[in-house]
Amino acid sequence: MSILASLDHRSSSSQRTGKPSQPVDRPSAAEAEQAVMTLIRWAGEDPDREGLIDTPARVARAYREWFAGYDEDPDEWLQRTFEEIAGYDEMVLLRDVRFVSHCEHHLAPIVGRAHLAYLPHKRVVGISKLARVVEVYAKRMQIQERLTAEIADTVDRVLQPRGVAVIVEGAHGCMSSRGVHQAEATMVTSRMLGAFRDRPDIRQQFLSAINVRGVAGQGNLLFERASEGSDHERRW
Ligand SMILES: [Zn+2]
Repeated sequence: MSILASLDHRSSSSQRTGKPSQPVDRPSAAEAEQAVMTLIRWAGEDPDREGLIDTPARVARAYREWFAGYDEDPDEWLQRTFEEIAGYDEMVLLRDVRFVSHCEHHLAPIVGRAHLAYLPHKRVVGISKLARVVEVYAKRMQIQERLTAEIADTVDRVLQPRGVAVIVEGAHGCMSSRGVHQAEATMVTSRMLGAFRDRPDIRQQFLSAINVRGVAGQGNLLFERASEGSDHERRW
């Protein structure tokens, strides 16, 4: 079972930078640990039990790691570009960028991968920086639609390429472990900008470049599933 969500061209809330919109006052570590103890009691456990003694501190530290994306501006990762590219103007594609995010509705993990491509206009960026952009946005409380849009919009805004394409596949812990208990469901979202949106041939080139290895059968969840017969994923 897959859910396909295709995102509109530019959202009206398109930001001018990748910084979080509202900086907040952080509580102290002690306050955060106290809150975790409350949740442990809410679950029906005794936070003073030996095995749980260090858990609030561990959870508080884990939160800083899971949500480290609030301390970073993804635009900065893309600032350093290279212009000596010998006129290279073909697609640059980064496949299978793994990420772990958390849904803003349940704080449950979203585990997935992103594929992103752009058509350079006179300059390119170090490819690991693109993966960093995915990571920064993933390490915030998210919905997958916004994660997809933010990655694409940031590359578009900072690099100003001729086009950007992003496809994100995510398995949502809040869906697999609770509620409808759909352990196999994955959500697929996409955002196409510029030439990838306007030119079906270029969009197809991107989709084929991802598809090639998936059809070959090695480790590409998205297209292994697609080849199992669902037509949803083929609608791009
Ligand atoms: Zn959720």
